[in-house]
Amino acid sequence: MASIQFVNVSKAFEKNAVIQNLNLTIEDGAFTVLVGPSGCGKTTLLRMIAGLGPQTSGQVLIDGKDVSRIPPGQRGVAMVFQNYAIYPTMSVRENIEFGLRNNKIPKAERVQLVESISETVGLLDYLDRKPSALSGGQRQRVALARAMVKKPSVFLMDEPLSNLDAKLRVQMRIELIELHKKLGTTFVYVTHDQVEAMSMADTIVLMNQGEIQQEAPPHEIYHQPSNLFTAQFIGVPSMNIGDLGVDGVKFGFRPENAGLSAATAAREHSGLTPHYSLQGTIVTREMLGAETIYQVRSRDLSFMVKSPEDAYHVDQEVVLGVEASKLHFFGADELRIPA
Ligand code: ATP
Repeated sequence: MASIQFVNVSKAFEKNAVIQNLNLTIEDGAFTVLVGPSGCGKTTLLRMIAGLGPQTSGQVLIDGKDVSRIPPGQRGVAMVFQNYAIYPTMSVRENIEFGLRNNKIPKAERVQLVESISETVGLLDYLDRKPSALSGGQRQRVALARAMVKKPSVFLMDEPLSNLDAKLRVQMRIELIELHKKLGTTFVYVTHDQVEAMSMADTIVLMNQGEIQQEAPPHEIYHQPSNLFTAQFIGVPSMNIGDLGVDGVKFGFRPENAGLSAATAAREHSGLTPHYSLQGTIVTREMLGAETIYQVRSRDLSFMVKSPEDAYHVDQEVVLGVEASKLHFFGADELRIPA
């Protein structure tokens, strides 16, 4: 296991400064997910840890040691990519063993290690198969097992699930969480998918344009977003944002925190609990089974509402209400003002 630290790290590709003075500590043994839109610098950070693309300035520390001069193979890290390289002509066993050959490990020990790791990732019954006879998820497990035989103290994963179909992705997410628990190793996982980040991370590091926007556990990042970017990036549908008409101050609320009522019925309530409400018209309705997503237009504003009720129809006049305690406020400087 190992902690990782970035200390005042900057990275430029020729004159293009991608990361500037970034500071980040990744806890020993944690499952940390770097998330953010395409091009925000996630892979660049991961490659710096691996030693595949050194920083322009600053320090990267693994377990407190500056690794600038340590070559990739000696950093105790293993990387699993989106396009995981497994050899098509080799069996599963040979693929997994491949990483060990170079380390001059005796045959008996190699066999034992390959088998115990195959068991961990559920490949024991497939050791003699060729990759072409495996499912996408099983191939992904071969790539994981191949990284695992090296017994790294840090696992780096760059969008490892993005080539899998939606159902398998969900299953592999659960398997990765289990694997992390079993190994207790530091995992650093890159994705642009906020659902993946929310479901797997101990800590989410949300980035945009080379800068860390917020670093927090999933619950905190969802309920206490520190700025507008975080508020809108995390959550589906994203947080509704409106303008208070006061010097750049905006308010926001999550679609599931808004309630709807038929316009006529709502007028009869006098609004005893302090809440924000507005009148609007339903413009779209999407029934997803357990919940329905409505889009409500009110003058030139449009808000998404996620409701357990499928009781409203398109063109219906409704009142949208949000409890005051569920409102978020974002100041002109994008700092959160406590409600
Ligand atoms: P994605 O989710 O699309 O993989 P990312 O967040 O991982 O994106 P990076 O790959 O880290 O983003 O790239 C960050 C920025 O650095 C991008 O603007 C990219 O164009 C630039 N960049 C990355 N690698 C190079 C390179 N070898 N040469 C020049 N620019 C690069």
